Amino acid sequence: MTDKNTKRRITVAHGDGIGPEIMKATLKILEAAKAPLEYDEIQVGEKVYLSGITSGISPDDWETLRKNKIFLKAPITTPQGGGYKSLNVTIRKSLGLFANVRPCMTLTPYIQSHFDDMDLVIVRENEEDLYAGIEHQQTGEVVQCLKLVSRPGCEKIIRYAFEYARVNNRKKVTCMTKDNIMKHTDGLFHSVFNEIAAEYPEIKNEHYIIDIGAARIADRPNAFDVIVTLNLYGDIVSDIAAEVAGSVGFSGSANIGQDFGMFEAIHGSAPDISGMGIANPTGLLNGACMMLVHLGMSDKAEMIQNALLTAIEDGIHTGDIANETTTKKVGTQEFADAVIERLGKKPTKLTPVSLNHDVEGIKVNITPYKAQKKDLVGVDAFVDWVGTDRNPDTIGKMLEDACPANMKLKMITNRGVKVYPNGIPETFCTDHWRCRFVSKDFVKGENENAPVAHEDIIALLTDLNTNGIEVIKTENLYLFDGKRGYSLGQGE
Ligand code: NAD
Repeated sequence: MTDKNTKRRITVAHGDGIGPEIMKATLKILEAAKAPLEYDEIQVGEKVYLSGITSGISPDDWETLRKNKIFLKAPITTPQGGGYKSLNVTIRKSLGLFANVRPCMTLTPYIQSHFDDMDLVIVRENEEDLYAGIEHQQTGEVVQCLKLVSRPGCEKIIRYAFEYARVNNRKKVTCMTKDNIMKHTDGLFHSVFNEIAAEYPEIKNEHYIIDIGAARIADRPNAFDVIVTLNLYGDIVSDIAAEVAGSVGFSGSANIGQDFGMFEAIHGSAPDISGMGIANPTGLLNGACMMLVHLGMSDKAEMIQNALLTAIEDGIHTGDIANETTTKKVGTQEFADAVIERLGKKPTKLTPVSLNHDVEGIKVNITPYKAQKKDLVGVDAFVDWVGTDRNPDTIGKMLEDACPANMKLKMITNRGVKVYPNGIPETFCTDHWRCRFVSKDFVKGENENAPVAHEDIIALLTDLNTNGIEVIKTENLYLFDGKRGYSLGQGE
């Protein structure tokens, strides 16, 4: 545990648009609360991009970030077009920030919302899933995006969610996936969730299919406590939850890795109100409070958040949240002063924040690599073909004629639906055919896992090529510890 008096050096970026204004207000509050911090300032954002650094950060500043490990970042403006990379994605992926944590709570009647008792936290996987960004055009008609999900990736994020629940005295963790459709990728996430949930018997756990889960967040957000989900779903439900709470301009977010952490507001640089002194600093301040908790300075975070809630319930509001409960409409720095004046006070109408003071940055372990027995039982060869009429029987016959003696064609699917043998004429076929080849000894119901050698696959590809059939990619079919490691075609 960090000595409470030792100053911790962190990296700060003032960002673009309203960034410098809200960062100034936030740092002023941190200083008034005597948070033991020292700062190295770096430049990120528009100026850096426009100077020709497409990553949005210079090599020297990148080194500062790596040295200090903790980054408080104001929003930045990403110039439109021009091949600029998203700085957030670069930082997240390079520094292994696997968890995106976004608390969403209602503060009615001071912040408008249809609900008055919502207090949930979304823990979103941050590195994998469709956001690995591996996309290819494979044929004239078909493009593909790879959805990658790893066991260590699932373990890290799910364990983080349960640890977060444990140290923050939260009662339930809800997992959201679509494993009724994606049985292997989302199925892995769900099964790792079940394994890890069993290690935390004191915390309730449940699973929702993401579509109904997202609908429930919109309709009954108070039914949730901590939600853990994959990257894409997490991206979507985080915005639903923030919107439902009425707090898009209010929420902070943390990107957490084993060693690094980046903390920010969820909103952007708001160029429309930049320089006017009216921006609400609360989102960044809440991000900074998450940082304090991460650094083991929960006492300071609690003091600041209680002062913030007191200012809000006293009706001291920036223009963006002004409503009938407002007693004084203030600008950014005046709002910061109002929070500072209330340091040490607790709200009387809103629920005071009470944090666990005995925790420092959550660390999670992953199970060491365990080799599994791998048996090769076939191959899916993806073929680019359209012929004269996209007829599955024509390509089926061509493939059977071209197939070497050691293997046989089991089926062909088009966009996942079996079209050969015995397809139905109503199924529309694109120019992208998944052709499943298995051992010549395969017998349905009797010898379904007959082994295949890599040499058999090489011979198959050679023969298909010789016969003018264009294979655009292959996927080997394996059993892992005797369990099928691939999906069946619809109708297989
Ligand atoms: P935005 O969040 O900046 O603004 C949306 C609306 O909310 C605007 O009307 C704005 O005035 C208002 N708003 C936002 N924050 C506010 C605050 N603290 N106080 C009062 N009002 C506030 O979204 P945008 O306009 O779509 O994006 C502007 C720029 O920000 C873009 O360049 C975008 O790429 C960038 N952006 C950066 C981040 C980040 O750095 N993490 C996140 C989102 C967007």
